[in-house]
Amino acid sequence: MAEYEVVIGLEVHVQIKTRSKMFCSCANVFGAEPNTMVCPVCMGYPGVMPTPNHEAIRKTIMAGLMCDCDIPSYSKFDRKSYFYPDMPKNYQISQYDLPLCLRGRIHISGKGFSGEELPDKYIGLTRIHLEEDVAKLNHLGRTSGVDFNRAGVPLMECVSEPDMRSADEAYAYLTALKQIMQYGGISDCDMEKGQMRCDVNISLRPFGQKEFGTKIELKNLNSFRAVHRAVNYEIARQSELLDAGEKLRQETRGWNDDRGETYLMRTKEQAHDYRYFPEPDLMPITLDLKRVDEYRRQLPELPEAMRRRFVADYGLTPYDAQVLTMEKALAEYYDCGAKLTKSPKTLANWIISDLLCELSASGQTISACPVTPEHLAAMIDMIDAGAINNRIAKTVFAEMASSGKPPRQIVAEKGLAQVSDEGAVIPLVEQAIAANAPQVQQYREGNEKVVQYFVGQVMKLSRGKANPQLVIKLLKERLDG
Ligand code: ADP
Ligand code: ZN
Ligand code: MG
Repeated sequence: MAEYEVVIGLEVHVQIKTRSKMFCSCANVFGAEPNTMVCPVCMGYPGVMPTPNHEAIRKTIMAGLMCDCDIPSYSKFDRKSYFYPDMPKNYQISQYDLPLCLRGRIHISGKGFSGEELPDKYIGLTRIHLEEDVAKLNHLGRTSGVDFNRAGVPLMECVSEPDMRSADEAYAYLTALKQIMQYGGISDCDMEKGQMRCDVNISLRPFGQKEFGTKIELKNLNSFRAVHRAVNYEIARQSELLDAGEKLRQETRGWNDDRGETYLMRTKEQAHDYRYFPEPDLMPITLDLKRVDEYRRQLPELPEAMRRRFVADYGLTPYDAQVLTMEKALAEYYDCGAKLTKSPKTLANWIISDLLCELSASGQTISACPVTPEHLAAMIDMIDAGAINNRIAKTVFAEMASSGKPPRQIVAEKGLAQVSDEGAVIPLVEQAIAANAPQVQQYREGNEKVVQYFVGQVMKLSRGKANPQLVIKLLKERLDG
């Protein structure tokens, strides 16, 4: 099989978190009884007038600024005509030639979905435009129902340049985009609630060829994992056709997640003509620089900036920083604790290995976690100060996770403080030596590793509380003497 260069561009729809819909005052909520969040405007009754939601416009511009987009001073809405049961007006209010955001970019780096290191690069964003979502069709056996609660919900479409070169890069781009939207409070991007939806455009070309190959558009991708799988499936399918000397047709294909394959939905000949024209019921959007600058000042710290800060200020590896910024709440948790402890790298290790395991085992979110960043930082400082050892810290951590008590209180109540007093440890060391004559013999014959065995014995006798450094020192003094 010949090797081809993979070219991928993504079109991602993101629902904007607002109180009301895009052009009416109906609530923007998920999961309500079907057709209870509707009014004449979002139901497309004749003669009604749309009123734009300024919060949705602001959030779209914020999203654009976070992706380094230009924000043109003049933008407008257009009608996209089409006929389908999910759209009562038979046109969708969208944006065509003058969207709110143009020419942005999103940075990807770190470890990809498959675990290997990604190239450090920017994926271009062509545009972000604002539109209204359409109704949801629910297919129940042989009948279908239409739920208009979703019709008119503010929706952004983020169109990327064809800059991705693998399934891993597409996955990383989606992860980065989702993080930006979440950090900015633009959307929760919960794919199970349809808050983020993704179409994939993919083509192959021989390495070195300048022109792009014929692109195939993939729809119905319900998770990032599905995107990853579908891309790899298409790479194999298209390679095979090209190898056989076939010419690809431009087509739209669906993804069947159960079968793990794509299937033909329609060819280019069946493509719609949307007959876009300016929406006559809405004023164009004019933005002066002052307003855009004001929005710029409202921007939160972005995941990428946070990762760089974590590496520079707290001595983390890029991988630690990648894991800890996965979710905004987790990043804020770490940042809060790291400011309190003298060992922010140790804190990162505890969060990544112990806290995240604990959360996934208990099914808790970081915000509801009983272990506060203050408590975890305090526990790490206790380890550093020698008040408890690492083994006891595991017990303290488990107790913090179940009771939410501060570590000092747990150590005091359970008598877990590390014993660093020679007078208390010497008898235990002597007891261990007296009870293990064969091991003493082995040590004296030159087997240094036996020391670890003795450390284990003394720790057991102290019920884990002896200071391990002190134990080693005392053991050596006696064994060598
Ligand atoms: P269309 O006119 O069919 O909507 P666009 O040019 O608007 O196509 O591009 C839609 C999406 O497809 C964009 O994300 C773009 O990056 C991507 N794209 C365009 N051409 C290709 C190609 N040859 N291979 C892969 N993706 C492509
Ligand atoms: Zn409405
Ligand atoms: Mg297009």
